[in-house]
Amino acid sequence: MRIGSGWDIHRLTEGRKLVLGGIVIPFSKGEEAHSDGDVLIHAVIDALFGALSMGDIGTHFPPGDPAYKDISSTVLLEKAVSMVHTEGFFIGNIDSTIILEKPKLKRYIPEVVQKLSSILGVDPENISVKAKTGEGLGPVGEGNAVEARAVVLLEEKDESVWV
Ligand code: MG
Repeated sequence: MRIGSGWDIHRLTEGRKLVLGGIVIPFSKGEEAHSDGDVLIHAVIDALFGALSMGDIGTHFPPGDPAYKDISSTVLLEKAVSMVHTEGFFIGNIDSTIILEKPKLKRYIPEVVQKLSSILGVDPENISVKAKTGEGLGPVGEGNAVEARAVVLLEEKDESVWV
């Protein structure tokens, strides 16, 4: 087994979509970014690459590369997952936390989990997405940023079991 952790933060700005786990959340602000700025997916991708000891999201998808301008982070996640499989692992479970002052995310969480489940090929019961606020403290608490953290467990494929 291998464990990986990921973290990301993006500034919130008007005129951008708020995208979390591939789902557009209705709000007046969204992530400022070269891609769609999906902090949750970026944290998950960093956790996957971390578990593989294969660098981070910027190593594989450089932010200056025009190919990734405004790209949906779900596409990047699909590529990261296929690298996990190529390296001989599958995803055991994921635990994550989104930290955002507004809006309240609770009612969107089931949709986010479903979306991640379909991209990752992992049962929804093995995907945890939690949400909390910054308690009014710092850039997140003041509503100027959104942050996400993720931990993943990878398990080595045991080909002999499948024969
Ligand atoms: Mg990011």
